[in-house]
This record gives sequence, C-alpha cells and structure tokens, in this order.
Amino acid sequence: MERPQIKLNSKLPNIGTTIFTIMSKMAADYNAINLSQGFPDFDCPDDLKKLVSHYINEGRNQYAPMPGLPLLRERISAKIEKLYGHNYNPETEINITAGATQALYTIISAVINSGDEVIIFEPAFDTYLPAIMANGGKPIPIPLSEKDFSIDWDRCKDSITNKTKLIIVNSPHNPTGSVINLADLKNLEEITKDTNILIISDEVYEHIVFDGNRHISISRSGELARRSFIVSSFGKTYHTTGWKIGYCAAPENLMSEFRKIHQFMVFAVNTPIQYAYADFMKNENHYLSLGFFYQKKRDLIINALKDSRFKLNKARGTYFQLLDYSGITDKNDYEFSEFLTKEIGVAVIPLSPFYSSDNKRKLIRICFAKRDEVLIEAAEKLCRV
Ligand code: PMP
Ligand code: GLN
Repeated sequence: MERPQIKLNSKLPNIGTTIFTIMSKMAADYNAINLSQGFPDFDCPDDLKKLVSHYINEGRNQYAPMPGLPLLRERISAKIEKLYGHNYNPETEINITAGATQALYTIISAVINSGDEVIIFEPAFDTYLPAIMANGGKPIPIPLSEKDFSIDWDRCKDSITNKTKLIIVNSPHNPTGSVINLADLKNLEEITKDTNILIISDEVYEHIVFDGNRHISISRSGELARRSFIVSSFGKTYHTTGWKIGYCAAPENLMSEFRKIHQFMVFAVNTPIQYAYADFMKNENHYLSLGFFYQKKRDLIINALKDSRFKLNKARGTYFQLLDYSGITDKNDYEFSEFLTKEIGVAVIPLSPFYSSDNKRKLIRICFAKRDEVLIEAAEKLCRV
C-alpha cells in the first residue's frame, strides 16, 4: 500500500525550477548551441588551475577561517580601495562566500524581518525575489525604463514607506546589460539620506563594462557605503563560474550581522581555491583587460546579427545581450525561446522569469561568453529566423 505524502506548507509555493536549469537542459536535450545560462564555454587561465593544484598538493585542504582566507581578504580590500577609493577593513568588513548567490541570500536572511519591504528593479536577477520571500520579506518591484533599462528614481522614491528595509541594485545589470552612472549614485544618496534603508549592490560584472566607461561601484560614495553590502564574484572575473567563490564587503556593524548567518550557513568556503585566487589576483592585467576582452565578443555577435530580423541596443556591460523579436513573431518569450532551441538550434533565455508579474515585452537574452566560432555559428542560425 502506498503511504500518503507528508503535507508541507511550501515557503515558495509559486517558485519552480530556475530558467537557467531548464534552458541548459533543453539545450543539451536538443543539441542546441547554449547561449542561455551565463557561463563561458572556454577555460580559465592555465596558471590559475596550476595554483589550485599546487595548493591542493601542498595540503591546503582543511577548513578555511570562517570569514575567508586573510590574504585573500587583504587583496580584495586593496583592490577595492585602488579601483573605487573606499577602504574596507579586511579583518572585519570583508567575507568570502560560496559565490555571489550565497552572499546575497545570507545578507537578505541577516537583515530581513517578517513584513519588511525590499525594493527591486525589474527585470531582476532571479535569486532576489525568492530569497526575500523565503525570509518573510515583501518584494516591491519597480520596472526599469522601457527604453534603456535605467532606474526611475522618482518612482523608487514614491515606493518608499516606513517598512522599506532594503533596496537591491545591480550594475552592470543582468539580464539587460545596462549600467548605472554617477547621477544614479547621487539619486540613491538623496533617496536614502536620513533613513535606515540598507542597500545590496550586486556588482558581479564589475569588470565587464564597455566603450571606455568605468564601473560605478556603490562603494565610491561614502554615504552609500555605510549602508551597503557590496557583492561580487570571482566566477565572472576568472571564467570559473563552477568554483562558486564570491565575496561581500560591508561596514563592520552590517558585516557582523552577515557573519552570524554565514557561519551557520556554510561556515567557510573552499580553501585551496581561496589560496589560488589570492595569488592570481596579484596579476591586475587579467581583470583590467576583461572589459575589452568581452567587448570584442559583444561587437562580434552584434555584427554577425546585423542582417537578422532581431532589433537590439548594445549591452553596456555584462556578457549578455538582449534581442527584441517583436518584428518576428507574436509568440510569448517562453514559446519563442523553446522554438529557437528546438527548431533553430540556439538556446536562449526568455525575460519573463526576471519579472514578478506578467511581462508582455518580446525580449530574449543571449550570453556571448562563448568562443568566437560558436558565436558566429549561433548568429548564422539566428539570422535564418
Ligand atoms: N548576481 C548576478 C547579477 C548574476 O548574474 C549572478 C550569476 N550567476 C550571480 C549574482 C551569482 O553569482 P555566483 O555564480 O558567484 O553565485
Ligand atoms: N548568472 C547566470 C545567468 O544569469 C546563471 C546563474 C545560475 O545558473 N543560477 O545566466
């Protein structure tokens, strides 16, 4: 006799499997070129792999200190100070995490109490909303501008209530490729002034900014830094998304709350890889030239798509490009993504999963962190649509 299932009140009744898992699987099942989930199809630097092997062979295989390897935190602190002018104490204000995903979840879990409101800008990276909801918070979605996906600060200001606890910003922005500028920083300062509102700044694509622009880190503003958790990820910078190492930087009073959760969530993260990154980071050239490296790929795919029926505005950062297919079909973005994967042989990401309510726009996202020949082949296929 079959036993009845145990009843469980889901914390996230409306959340299914992530779109990245779904589309990468569909790509594999239909043997399509996978431009869906964001990861490079080329390898990380050889020297970095050698360093990891070296530290494994040297026996660096036990728990790292709970906040992360001190040398790695020192190097991150020096890098942030040099690039963005803010000093974080490596001892008390920086923490290494199992990817940016864990940093984001840990922050939200550390600061959100039941009923707290969290402002997010949509389309929003898919981890924010479930993390807020699983911790009893209330997401307050604000649409980014239809034209260029910039932030509507008046609307943001109007959405602030006495329950607003947190604002999440993400620049360079996944999925749209937009970036914030100094005026955005000023607006955020103005809106949060004289409040206790906290900020998460998801800056995982900090080194992937194009056309001669600089990344605007929230930490550049002293006023914002004192209320912000800055999140970044080694995975994006070193072509090592599978290693899942990231970090969080925040003022000591915020970091101490972060660590209360971090220590019981993972305690510490991968030791030999932290040693390897600490060594490899000495080579500034890798991350300082990353924007140029990806800009060539962005330009290659855009050029290869110029005779297609897709419309696009160049991504200004990240390794993602949005394609507007409104001139091609009335299909919704899920149907169209499935069609492209199964019939055309190129897997892409629909934009709807990045919205909390109905998305009517006809947009898909492609990832151009791929070898040039793969981008060219994918573009040829997309040009047939
Ligand atoms: N934030 C954004 C905007 C991302 O695109 C990603 C990519 N996965 C993450 C966070 C998570 O990074 P990680 O893989 O280091 O967990
Ligand atoms: N950040 C990656 C993307 O946007 C994927 C992350 C994931 O698979 N969770 O495609």
